[in-house]
Amino acid sequence: MFAISRRLHFHLLHRLSGFRFPLRPCSHSSGPGPRILAAMDFDRTIVQQDSYLAVSQLLPSRQRQQLQELIPKSGWLEFMARVLQLLHAEHKVNSASVGMLVRRLPAVPGMLRVVRLLAKHPQVDLCIVSDANSFFIGEWLREHDIECLFTDVFTNPACVQSSGELLVLPFEEQAHCSLCPANLCKGAVLEGLICSGQYERVVYVGDSCNDLCAMRRLRRCDVACIRRGYELYGKLGAHGRDLSCAVLTWRDGHELEELLLPKIVA
Ligand SMILES: [Mg+2]
Ligand SMILES: [Zn+2]
Repeated sequence: MFAISRRLHFHLLHRLSGFRFPLRPCSHSSGPGPRILAAMDFDRTIVQQDSYLAVSQLLPSRQRQQLQELIPKSGWLEFMARVLQLLHAEHKVNSASVGMLVRRLPAVPGMLRVVRLLAKHPQVDLCIVSDANSFFIGEWLREHDIECLFTDVFTNPACVQSSGELLVLPFEEQAHCSLCPANLCKGAVLEGLICSGQYERVVYVGDSCNDLCAMRRLRRCDVACIRRGYELYGKLGAHGRDLSCAVLTWRDGHELEELLLPKIVA
């Protein structure tokens, strides 16, 4: 019940912000039989860079460094909110310029192909669970014409003000999970999806410690796909025992395709 009401709240917020959430894939029909959920992080998993850090590069380096000092205490969302506020107020950079930068962020090599292959599979639903925001993700997905391949995007809502300033808001205000920031517990999102009973298997693809909470909810039949060479992989020794699912590691989309796709078909 909790998951459903939060999802409705999320959809409502996004309808207000103009971000479109297709409820089912528009170019691939769902097939009968047990369903598989492929849930993906966005920054450094679908796109190669961290979108927040990339956008903050639009600020002069001294201002950017000052704001980065906020991150340990106030978190990434507050950092981004302040970056966007300064960009608009002092540098006349509006949402259109921010959108242009985000649309040009390169994909992780081979990842667009992985997304399209997963979406083509009749049993698979694709979703994004990300601490970025609906504006960045929406701009990027539309630029690559893959927005309609995702059934859901769970992220912080964003809206463009009439002045052209971009506002980012928290997905939620949570205090139950100390692994995750107050604005988004990825584990709770995954738990809601798993508890819906729709999915026989769940695959989660991510790179950082904020994906660990989601991966900890995965069952023995599920698969965590951890990006090699990135934050979470470095801490796998310490956290590996917290996972009850199968784990595979990948470096780019080509390798993910090779390792993950046969497991989906099997
Ligand atoms: Mg990431
Ligand atoms: Zn959490």
